[in-house]
Amino acid sequence: MTARILDGNSIRDQIYSELQNEIANLRAEGIRPGLAAVLVGDNPASHIYVKSKIAACEKLGLGSWQVTPPASVSTAEMLDVIADLNSRDDVDGILVQLPLPPQVDAKRVLESVDPAKDVDGFHPVSLGRLVSGRPTLVACTPSGIMEILRRSGIVIEGANAVVLGRSDIVGKPMALLLLHANATVTICHSKTRDLPGVVRRADIVVAALGRPAMVTSDWVRPGATVIDVGINRITDNAEASRAFANFPARLEQFHKKGTAIIGDVHPDVAKVAGALTPVPGGVGPLTIAMLMANTVKAARLRRGQRASAAPVV
Ligand code: NAP
Repeated sequence: MTARILDGNSIRDQIYSELQNEIANLRAEGIRPGLAAVLVGDNPASHIYVKSKIAACEKLGLGSWQVTPPASVSTAEMLDVIADLNSRDDVDGILVQLPLPPQVDAKRVLESVDPAKDVDGFHPVSLGRLVSGRPTLVACTPSGIMEILRRSGIVIEGANAVVLGRSDIVGKPMALLLLHANATVTICHSKTRDLPGVVRRADIVVAALGRPAMVTSDWVRPGATVIDVGINRITDNAEASRAFANFPARLEQFHKKGTAIIGDVHPDVAKVAGALTPVPGGVGPLTIAMLMANTVKAARLRRGQRASAAPVV
């Protein structure tokens, strides 16, 4: 069997074109949804992430602002920045780019974001609403994965779903979304016994471990759907040879660049799975798309309107 490749880029494009219509409707009502990004200090990766989020806003015609406190910022100063954004009516979504410098109490800062503007879905109020199945803003990566599954016609109801990883931003909300969609969900972590045995019972596997190529073909039930959330940069020759033994073009590319991006799922799983998200080009593109969808959703929810772009739970 060769897995159907679930192409995140084309699903992102579908979502963008739906959002463009919705944004045009809102503009006709005099509403321009807007996202404010708080970017602290000079972390190069954070700058790249924020730049691509702002570029997505500009592409879709959303308002966008960057607030850039210095790396020496204090918790109190960050709380003032957030309080100002909370009070602004033109700001529908607030994004605090992580990591924050060590002297800043990141939890306090994230909890100070108005839950109505919590487009990352990290606020305890957002998570609590998700647990109880009420309308809310849901973390972008798991909600993007639900879009991939639904738009690819993968049957979720009644499926055995195994989520590898229990982080607050991926694993836990992912498990809740699958549960709300009537899957039977197992959450695995570093203390799970017989991980391969648990994964082998799954119809749907979501791998969010941060461990390069850990999920191998012998773990996967033939025909299962495998969603690879991992984004791992590898530089080690032996690791690349193990991952790309059956993919000479990727191995050659690795040798040329000395580095490659690889998921948590071994590329050979494509020979066993029924459907598989590639890395790159699978889950990644959906994360920014769902941030845009959440900003539009927040703009509607704040004005007491039903959100139509991103499904509510
Ligand atoms: P995280 O906070 O580091 O959580 C990793 C989880 O995996 C933890 O629950 C950990 O278990 C579990 N785990 C680690 N090693 C394990 C092992 N050997 N056996 C079983 N469980 C193990 O990571 P995250 O933030 O959820 O991210 C996971 C991956 O997704 C990373 O590669 C990250 O770069 C990627 N990611 C991608 C996107 C995207 O847009 N595509 C977005 C977010 C994250 P314990 O809880 O027991 O420690």
